[in-house]
Amino acid sequence: MHEDRFFPSDPVQRQIARRLYGEIKDLPIVSPHGHTDPRWYADNIAFTDPAELFLIPDHYLFRMLYSQGVLLENLGIPRIDGGSVEGDSRKIWRLFAEHYHFFRGTPSRMWFEHALYFLFGLDRRLDPANADELYDRIMETLARPEFRVRALFERFNIEVIATTGSPLDPLEHHRAIAASGWRGRVIPAFRPDLLTDPDFAGFQGNVVRLGEITGENTASWEGYLRALAARRRFFKERGGTSTDHGHPSAVTADLDSSACRALFDKALQGVLSRDETELFRGQMLTEMVRMSLEDGLVIQIHPGAYRSHNASLFRKFGHDKGADIPTRTDYVRALKPLLDRFGNESCLTVILFTLDETSYSRELAPLAGHYPILRLGPPWWFFDSPEGMMRYKRLVVETAGFYNTVGFNDDTRAFLSIPARHDMARRIDSAFLAELVSRHQLDEDEAAEVAVDLTYRLVKQAYKL
Ligand SMILES: [Zn+2]
Repeated sequence: MHEDRFFPSDPVQRQIARRLYGEIKDLPIVSPHGHTDPRWYADNIAFTDPAELFLIPDHYLFRMLYSQGVLLENLGIPRIDGGSVEGDSRKIWRLFAEHYHFFRGTPSRMWFEHALYFLFGLDRRLDPANADELYDRIMETLARPEFRVRALFERFNIEVIATTGSPLDPLEHHRAIAASGWRGRVIPAFRPDLLTDPDFAGFQGNVVRLGEITGENTASWEGYLRALAARRRFFKERGGTSTDHGHPSAVTADLDSSACRALFDKALQGVLSRDETELFRGQMLTEMVRMSLEDGLVIQIHPGAYRSHNASLFRKFGHDKGADIPTRTDYVRALKPLLDRFGNESCLTVILFTLDETSYSRELAPLAGHYPILRLGPPWWFFDSPEGMMRYKRLVVETAGFYNTVGFNDDTRAFLSIPARHDMARRIDSAFLAELVSRHQLDEDEAAEVAVDLTYRLVKQAYKL
């Protein structure tokens, strides 16, 4: 772990980057969007072994191994049909060690080594010869009380973390965390895709269930909307400040209520065409923003993933197995109905993400650099990487400035990677700002202020934390 990692190699810029990073490296972590399991914090769990900790929950890691011919069964990834998979954690770890060179040059490798070094005190590169020894060292460390999840949360200096839940989620873990007296702030984000996307498996049953939970008649369009609004209020009572929408595209719609009723009826009957399904999802984005006028929740749109592209892998292992592939995504036309209605609201915030980097300079930065309602989320998923972050800054900042972005968020399921990801983002911010300072485009005192804004202040402001 070189202390100048990710900094420019130019000596002038490097000195500036070091100074800027020094100002932000110890700021608290604000993690406004992610997918860690709230049960971990409620039960204050201990992670059991290195494979369960690093590999099995992390599709960044096993997708790479799979791409080189390693079977998911041999990595202990559970099968949908309950068929047998490798259960020996040490064997899985050895397999990982054997193929560790596949991760050269990837951010996964940098996150992994950050955790090995700062948490487990291990500064050697994993290889087949030391795999067993590292395994034993990690096992010993995991057994200690300071490795329970709440102690790590405090050690990571996490000020607040958001988890993601569906409107059907009773949020019992969040209630338990609040009731436990522990001071860690874990809040839910409202992710209604299973009720707003008719393509979601079980959509009709989910709508019925929503009616049971809320006491609304969700067989009617108006009752369905009231029920969703009620669940949003419930999330807000549990501390939530945002919603999140993972639609295939950024399409929005603003239809009259009779057209909405007709679409909703067809959705319940399961007879929507492809185009109508897209239109329904688009209408629901607009409805979600309309509801934000009432409850103030910040809207996040995460479009553009072709989910579970590998059909046979999906049949065997289900969603989130590293087979989600980015697609081209249009924003300018897709968001027009939403922006025509709400684009000039300066007290609402819609945060846009993308998996289509070509849209940053062509569409997203100009949109966010104009409409008061819009902000740009940080580089996401495949682009949460040193080069991805640098490209983002080069494509976005000149048009949208820093202040139409929302700083960093880690969007992770892998708890131990959180400090590594935030540290990487802080270093890349420092590196980019150092370039501007060295070229006399920005004074260093301003750059220092921007660094704090990107790490901390903008994140809290955008997500109302
Ligand atoms: Zn996410």
